[in-house]
Amino acid sequence: MKYFAGIDIGSTAIKIALIDEEKKILASRVTPTGSHFRKNAITALETTLSEINISMDDLSYMISTGYGRKLMKESDESVSEITANAIGAIEAGRQHGDIKTIINIGGQDTKAIQIDDMGTVTNFAMNDKCAAGTGKFLDVTAMNLEIELEELGDYHFNIKGAPLPINSTCVVFAESEIIGLLADGHNKEEIVAGIHYSIAKRTVRLAKRVGLEGNVYFDGGPAMNKGLVAAMEDELGKELVIPEHPQITTALGAAVLALEAYYDEMEEE
Ligand code: ADP
Repeated sequence: MKYFAGIDIGSTAIKIALIDEEKKILASRVTPTGSHFRKNAITALETTLSEINISMDDLSYMISTGYGRKLMKESDESVSEITANAIGAIEAGRQHGDIKTIINIGGQDTKAIQIDDMGTVTNFAMNDKCAAGTGKFLDVTAMNLEIELEELGDYHFNIKGAPLPINSTCVVFAESEIIGLLADGHNKEEIVAGIHYSIAKRTVRLAKRVGLEGNVYFDGGPAMNKGLVAAMEDELGKELVIPEHPQITTALGAAVLALEAYYDEMEEE
C-alpha cells in the first residue's frame, strides 16, 4: 500500500491527513499550532503515522500547506492553502455535486475562493484585518462568556429574544463590547447569536465579492459550529455544503496533491 500525507500548519491548529492510493483517509489529526510550529507539526505527524503503524519513511510523498508550511523541511514540496483548500473541497464535497464557491473561516483569517470544474482557482478574496469575523472572534466570545467553544451552537439555538447587534469589527474591541453587554444584563444566548450573525454578515459580504455560484462549501474549524452555520445560511439565503470533518479539508487537499505529484513523477521517469 502507498501512503500520502497532507500537513496544514494553520495559524491556530495543525491538521494532518493521511490517505492511501484510493484517496481514502486512513488517519487524521487536529492539534494546536502553539509557538513551536515545526516541533509540534513533526510530533503531530509522527503520532498520526503511529496510529496506522507506519513511519515517515513509509510515506511516498508529503505536501505541507498553511501559514507555517515553509518550516516543514521534511515535506517533498509546499503549496498555498488556497490551492490545497480548493482540491480538498472538491474531494470532500464530491457527493454534493459541483462545488463552485468555498468559504473558509480559519483561526485568524477568512477566505472566499471561486473554482472551476477542474478545481482551478478563478477568483479569491481574503480578510485578515483585526481577525474580524474569524475563529478568533469565537474563541474570545467563548472565553469571555465562560463557556466551551463546542457549546456556542447550543447557546445560539436556545435564544429567547433577538440576536444582539455587535458593532465591533476588531476582535480586541469585540471583547470589550461583550463584557459591556454582560454588564448591561444581556444574556449569553443573545450575545452568542449576535456574534454569529456579525461573523456571518461579514463573511457573506466577502464571499459576494468573488461570486456565490453553484454549491457553496463551508470549511475551517468554525464550520463545526452549528449556530454559525445557521446564521450563515440565513444571510446567504441558501444551504451550505458542510463536510464531515470541516477542519481537515485543506490538509486533505494537500494529501491529494501529494498523491498526484507522486504519480506525475512516476510517469516522467
Ligand atoms: P487555521 O487553519 O487558521 O489554524 P482552523 O480552520 O484550524 O484555523 O480553525 C481554528 C478555529 O476553529 C478556532 O479559532 C476555533 O474558533 C474554531 N474551532 C475549533 N474547534 C471548534 C469546535 N469544536 N467548534 C467550533 N469551533 C471550533
